[in-house]
Amino acid sequence: MRPSWGYLTSEAGSRVISYGPLIDRTHQAWKLHAVNIGVLLAIVIHVIARWALPGISRRELALFSGASAVIAALSLLIFFGTVRCPACGANWVWRATKERAGRWLQWLHEQQVCPVCGSSGNVPSDRRWGAE
Ligand SMILES: [Zn+2]
Repeated sequence: MRPSWGYLTSEAGSRVISYGPLIDRTHQAWKLHAVNIGVLLAIVIHVIARWALPGISRRELALFSGASAVIAALSLLIFFGTVRCPACGANWVWRATKERAGRWLQWLHEQQVCPVCGSSGNVPSDRRWGAE
């Protein structure tokens, strides 16, 4: 399925959108998208409060900065806390940033199975949640 304008976006789009087979298979890509949007939103709020609202009071600026910080913090929480292996609970993003800080995305992309338990990303019936 390719829209008529697909040739413009499919190249860049597929590279940006795919976080690798593990993330795709476990349907966790939305979390990483949410993080992107959250971080972007935090920056936008910050920029608007600082430069686009000239008559803003210090208190309002603090409010905007606070909101921006909360959104950024929530995004980081999703990012580092919720992208996990459904079989063993291993935190993939945390692991990826530890393995290769600067190229964590590439590392994550290279993983075909969970690096901890070897699960393909589908929950096996003989394993329970939280098992190490
Ligand atoms: Zn696992």
